[in-house]
Amino acid sequence: PLGNLGLIVLDEEHEGAYKQATSPRYHARDVAFELGRRNAAVVVLGSATPAVETYYRAAAGEGGMTLFELPERIDARPLPQVRLVDLREDVFIAEGRTFSEPLLTALDVALSRGEQVILFLNRRGFATFIICHACGARFQCPDCGISLTYHHGPRRLQCHYCGFDRPRPSRCDACGSEDLGFLGLGTERVTEQLLRHFPHVVVGRLDRDAVRRRGVLRETLAAFARGEVHVLVGTQMLAKGLDFPGVTLVGVLNADVGLAWPDFRAAERTFQLVTQVAGRAGRAETPGLVVVQTYSPEHPALQAAAGHYCRRFFEHELRSRRENRWPPFVHIARLVFTDKDEGRCRAKAQAAALTLESLGIQAKGEGVHYLGPSPAPLVRLRGLWRQHIVIKAPARDELVEAVRRALAAREIERTAPVVDLDPLDML
Ligand SMILES: [Zn+2]
Ligand SMILES: [Zn+2]
Repeated sequence: PLGNLGLIVLDEEHEGAYKQATSPRYHARDVAFELGRRNAAVVVLGSATPAVETYYRAAAGEGGMTLFELPERIDARPLPQVRLVDLREDVFIAEGRTFSEPLLTALDVALSRGEQVILFLNRRGFATFIICHACGARFQCPDCGISLTYHHGPRRLQCHYCGFDRPRPSRCDACGSEDLGFLGLGTERVTEQLLRHFPHVVVGRLDRDAVRRRGVLRETLAAFARGEVHVLVGTQMLAKGLDFPGVTLVGVLNADVGLAWPDFRAAERTFQLVTQVAGRAGRAETPGLVVVQTYSPEHPALQAAAGHYCRRFFEHELRSRRENRWPPFVHIARLVFTDKDEGRCRAKAQAAALTLESLGIQAKGEGVHYLGPSPAPLVRLRGLWRQHIVIKAPARDELVEAVRRALAAREIERTAPVVDLDPLDML
């Protein structure tokens, strides 16, 4: 459509919004590359927190890509100081409190100076994870490397990709400690704890429940901007695009929930989120303080977000993706089956899996294969039960061919799965 296209810039290239959520589910990055190729134009992908897949392709020089790294911030603006607090060592946390000693001290300092604070929780919600309080280990699927989700009813840990499951452990696999606990905090509990320590502060709460009421989001943010609310407690919706010059302290209360998310991009998302959240702290001229509470301060994703060793994070992450066979080392497609009835939903997915086998696509293996069927991590959405199958292939054309054959099979076609090639959303 443009006469003389010479340059295409995709800023914040890691953003999920670049991928179309409805059919056809194309990614703007691929469109930019194709457009650039046809017009012999230069394509620039920019990001402070590039997608691991993009980093890999750029570093490998795939498709003529070149990796440029900017070691300095624009205008040499000071980075916020990011402090990782080790919850394994903290006395307050050991007593069952919500705030670690360093975070409580930082809160005290900021609030007594009349400065504003954002307390950030990784999304709360539908999944429960188990963590070792002694060493910080989380439980992962031995086949997929994906975090196992705990199910209270059957008291089992389950992989929502390949279906692997095991009984609730009584000891940590890594260190043998029996001090295992559940991960996750609600905004209510954080607010309540905050008011116990600082009875006079005004707290604004932003989570899915609060925001569902009309106008609450806008009013709370406006009150915070006017300085009438001192502390904002909220989920990931606070991470993006908000700029409050009065905020000098940002607390991330449970970084481990992000790391334990049942998604092969969990570490990458945590790196991006903490980096983004850190950008919320501090004025233009004075850097703010970010306190990140975690049981695994040594995790490369958090180390990278704290401003150290970005490259080490990418290397670590790529090693784990290669080992567990996730992108960029394989190409994946996701088939999601839904039904109002749980049993019928499962039957659809199982029939589809059998059909894949009959087409010569095996469960597991080295070549084109599939994982599942298994309940999707988000097992129920808008009244519908959800099951999914993930197809993996070493090359993209093999994947496209496998999906094409699968959808051509009547047994799969009539179950009308939602098909997502190169999915960004694994829930
Ligand atoms: Zn342990
Ligand atoms: Zn698995």
